[in-house]
Amino acid sequence: MKSPILTLKNIGFSYHSIQAQTPALHNISFHINEGEFVAVVGPSGCGKSTLLSIIAGLLAPEEGTISFSNPDGSLAYPRVGYMLQRDHLFEWRTIYQNAILGLEIGKKMTEENRQYVLQLLEDYDLLPFKDKRPSELSGGMKQRAALIRTLATNPQLLLLDEPFSALDYQTRLNVSADICRIIRSQKKTALLITHDLSEAISLADRIIVLTKRPATVKMEVDIHLTIQGESSLAARNAPEFQYYFNLLWEALSNEA
Ligand code: ADP
Ligand code: MG
Repeated sequence: MKSPILTLKNIGFSYHSIQAQTPALHNISFHINEGEFVAVVGPSGCGKSTLLSIIAGLLAPEEGTISFSNPDGSLAYPRVGYMLQRDHLFEWRTIYQNAILGLEIGKKMTEENRQYVLQLLEDYDLLPFKDKRPSELSGGMKQRAALIRTLATNPQLLLLDEPFSALDYQTRLNVSADICRIIRSQKKTALLITHDLSEAISLADRIIVLTKRPATVKMEVDIHLTIQGESSLAARNAPEFQYYFNLLWEALSNEA
């Protein structure tokens, strides 16, 4: 039995300005188990990024509680890695220098970590490009480099906010398959935000559907595809795929 690494209870949050108050999240409760890959889908502007910012600790919830239980059993806060829509690589640094940025900032630039980054670059076909600048790489390669930078600090929970949406469709399919393979092979717990239903179904173990703003949890769907252990591209051909797609499509159409 896997234990939850993250538990949200009745989270509520509004943005406040002098003119207006914008409720973004209302009464959100769910959990993520260790090793699980969970996707969150919801209409544009419903509060998905707000939710991720709260989980990452960048915003404080106004209502409810968030609890983490560290997979190694310690009381320390689990390490969280955050990957955004744009790769945010720095052009004045090489791919390798970008990949070690988090380690440098965290003052964790040990020989062991240096080797780990080089290994990640090798495993994910970027070693020959380690001394190149970001502009010399394709969009998909840059997104892989951004993921390696996120993995370098060995986070226990990965938060991904529409990490593929700046890519064209073909690249997006390949990069999402690659990134899913990397996350699974590293046995990471991950929370992926996406508005692409096919992407969510092909990548995730479980999907949380949010309503329009202020977001609440509309439903949770466990995904069981008979094509498993293969790439997420193959998963799109599973016979159950269309069933899940229709179920989610209908749930979201009611939110439009
Ligand atoms: P999503 O990621 O689902 O598209 P967001 O979480 O970014 O949605 O935003 C949810 C709502 O909160 C949107 O209506 C957005 O306009 C509003 N919002 C987001 N950030 C701010 C902010 N800093 N100040 C005021 N309103 C905001
Ligand atoms: Mg967003």
